[in-house]
Amino acid sequence: MPRARLCLSAALLAAMLLATSSAGAQAPREPKVLLIGIDGIRVDILQAAATPNLDALAAAGELTLAARIRPKTVSGPGWSSMLIGVWMDKHGVENNDFRSSRYDQYPDFLTRIELLRPELSTFAIVDWPPLGTSQDGGPLLSHKIDLVINVNGDNLGYGPADELSVELAADRLQHGDPDATFVYLGDPDVVAHDTSSLSNEYRAAIETADRQVGVLLDAVRARTTYDQEDWLIISSTDHGRDDEGGHGGESEKELTIYYLVSGASAAALQRPAEIVDVACTAMTHLGLTIDPAWDLDCKPNGLR
Ligand SMILES: [Zn+2]
Repeated sequence: MPRARLCLSAALLAAMLLATSSAGAQAPREPKVLLIGIDGIRVDILQAAATPNLDALAAAGELTLAARIRPKTVSGPGWSSMLIGVWMDKHGVENNDFRSSRYDQYPDFLTRIELLRPELSTFAIVDWPPLGTSQDGGPLLSHKIDLVINVNGDNLGYGPADELSVELAADRLQHGDPDATFVYLGDPDVVAHDTSSLSNEYRAAIETADRQVGVLLDAVRARTTYDQEDWLIISSTDHGRDDEGGHGGESEKELTIYYLVSGASAAALQRPAEIVDVACTAMTHLGLTIDPAWDLDCKPNGLR
């Protein structure tokens, strides 16, 4: 049937032309977010440590070592503020007993993404139990998130637990298709507490975390679809530390944190960064519009 064949060829040709023209128009790249949270980083020790991977991210984006949190300088409130985008007076978590939380009213940003855009794939991997399990009044991260992997740092030790988290996260980042990912690294905080100082061990733990950041970034860049994607990498911490390696007070060293955004969509910070900005920046990059009815305290910061 030569005529039919001719028609098919014409249709094929038209399809090819169409494909060529849409490739030429450069379809917008698919936004993706990777948030790497590292517990208890004091900015001057971060600055002194050898952190080539974070340095490279900063070179391709914006890093400030003068971002702020508000009291209390404790992990429970800190991670709640970062992942939700509201301060303690709203999320209700005042210490590492999460039982006073108001997460139903103020859910984490991955849960908000699921509530608004359930077709997006959300993923978190955490090794501090109350972040992802019911221990101590958790979880901060709700069951609406597509996948939360809990590695138990209390049982494994946070050094090995972080290593396992990164291995599992890297596999999923490279071979899965998460749109929004949160990876938590806990060991630097634990090392500082265990040594009761800003010791060489603490600095080494920060350098290990930086190496793990590199593993995660290698996994992202190895994706077969990487060229069609617009990855925003965000990294920050939940609090600083005092000179004895502790935290919980209201000194500048405890209230000051780093805030890093990196990628093609990163831009100069619009204002001094605060920990709450992480959640709004991540959601905005994925195309969500922040609804005033959510009563958030954050705004996107460091996006084009
Ligand atoms: Zn902490």
